[in-house]
Amino acid sequence: MERILEYPKDPVLTFSKEEELFRQMVREFCAKHIEPNWIEVDKAAEKDPMNMPLDLIKKMGQQGLFCIPCSEEYGGQGGTYTMATIATEEIAYADPSVALAVYALLNNGWPFALELFGNEEICSEILPEVAKGNAFFGIASTEPQGGSDVAGIRTRAEKKGDVYVFNGEKAYISGVGEVQKLPWGGGWFLVARTGGEGHKGLSAFAFLARKNGELGKGWNPTLYEDIGRHGLTTGGFILNDFELEAKYLLGEENKGFYHVMEGFNLARIVVAAATIGAARWLLEKAVEWFRSRKLFGRHISSFQGVSFKFAELYARWEAARYFVYRASRLADKIYMEKDPSLSPKDLNVPVALAKNYGPETCVDLAEEVMKWYGAYAFTKEAPIFRAWLGPFSYVIGAEGAQNIMKVIIARDLIGKEFIR
Ligand SMILES: Cc1cc2nc3c(=O)[nH]c(=O)nc-3n(C[C@H](O)[C@H](O)[C@H](O)COP(=O)(O)OP(=O)(O)OC[C@H]3O[C@@H](n4cnc5c(N)ncnc54)[C@H](O)[C@@H]3O)c2cc1C
Repeated sequence: MERILEYPKDPVLTFSKEEELFRQMVREFCAKHIEPNWIEVDKAAEKDPMNMPLDLIKKMGQQGLFCIPCSEEYGGQGGTYTMATIATEEIAYADPSVALAVYALLNNGWPFALELFGNEEICSEILPEVAKGNAFFGIASTEPQGGSDVAGIRTRAEKKGDVYVFNGEKAYISGVGEVQKLPWGGGWFLVARTGGEGHKGLSAFAFLARKNGELGKGWNPTLYEDIGRHGLTTGGFILNDFELEAKYLLGEENKGFYHVMEGFNLARIVVAAATIGAARWLLEKAVEWFRSRKLFGRHISSFQGVSFKFAELYARWEAARYFVYRASRLADKIYMEKDPSLSPKDLNVPVALAKNYGPETCVDLAEEVMKWYGAYAFTKEAPIFRAWLGPFSYVIGAEGAQNIMKVIIARDLIGKEFIR
C-alpha cells in the first residue's frame, strides 16, 4: 500500500517481525472496511447517535481487533499491549474522526483491566463477548459534579446479602448506546462508593447494564448530541436501586481508586495512539495539499510561514509517537513479561506524557491543516473538520483532563507533598 508519509527510519523505536505483520494485517483490513466508510459512519450517527456502525464492529471483532492483550482462554487474542497500540493507531489513521478507534481502544484497554482484577467466572462470561464484538466494555467513572475529582465520586454501592445495590448518576460515558444495541450488551469498569469519604472508600465493579440481551432493572440511560466522533455514543445514566451480584466486584473492596488508576494508565496509552494515528492522516492531507495548491505562482509550502509550521508539527508528532510506544513497551514489560524491576506506577509519567502530548499535537495540527486548506476546509465537503472535532474529545478530557496529566507528571517528579 502506498503511503504519502512513511514512518521515520528509526533504530531506537523498532518493531518485531510479528508486530510489522500485525500492523500490515490491520492496515489491509482498515483500507478495505474502514477508510471507504468512515465519513458515512460519522454523518449517519450525526443525524442520530443510535445509527452506530454495528456491522463494522462485528467485522472488527471477527478480525481480532478487540481484547488484543487479553488471554486466549477468555477469547482474547493473547497479544501484547504494543499490538493493541498498533491496532488503535492504524484504525485512527483509517477513521480520523476516531469513533471506531475509540471503540477499539476502550475494548482493548478496559477488558485488559477487567482481566487484571476480575475473577475467572466473570472474565469467562464477559471477555469472549467483547472480543467477538457482541458486547461493549468501557469505563464509567465520571459524574455530573466533575470528572477530574475521582476521589469525590458519589454513586453508592451498598452490599446487601449477595448483591450490591447501586444509586447515583454517571455522566459523559462512552458506549451507553452500544450497550443497548449490541447483541449481548455489556457495561463498564464502574467506580462507586462502598465506604467512607475520599479515595479509600471507592470500589470498582464489572458493571453490566445489559447481559445476554437483558437490560438490568434500575438503569436509566440518556444520550448526548456530541460535536464529533459520531460513530460512538456518549451518554449518562441514573441508577435507581440497581442490583449487581457481588461476584462482579473487581479486586478488593475499597481499593477501587487504585484499580481504576491502573486501568486509566493502560487506557491512556491507546488513547494517545488514536490521536497519533489521526495526526498521521492529517499530516498526509497537508502534504497532498502542499503538492497541488499554488498561489502567487508558487506552491504554498514554498512560503516558510507554512512549511516551518509543518516542520514544527511534524516534530511534535514524532515526539508524541515516541511517547506512545515507549509507554506501550513499558506496559508489556510490566504486565506481559512481569519484569520484577518494574511496577505499574512506573507507567504514571510515561503515560501522562503520551496522553498530554498526543491529543494536543493532533488537534493543533488539525487546526493548521484547516487553515492551509483555506475556505474549503470550512465546508462539510472537506472531511478535515471531522479529524479535528473527534480528537478534541481527548483535549477536553476524555480518559482524564490535560491538566490532570500535568498534575501526575509534577506529582511524581517533584513529590506529592511539594505540589499541594
Ligand atoms: C467525548 C467524551 C467521552 C467520554 N467518555 C467517558 C467515559 O467513557 N467514561 C468516563 O468515566 N468519562 C468519560 N468522559 C468524561 C471525561 O473523563 C471527563 O471529561 C474528564 O475526566 C474531565 O472531567 P469534566 O469534563 O467533568 O471536567 P472537570 O473535572 O470539571 O474539569 C474542568 C476543568 O478544570 C481543570 N481541572 C480540574 N481539576 C484540576 C486540577 N486539579 N488542576 C488543574 N486543573 C484542573 C480540567 O483540566 C478542566 O479543564 C468523556 C468525555 C468526553 C468529552
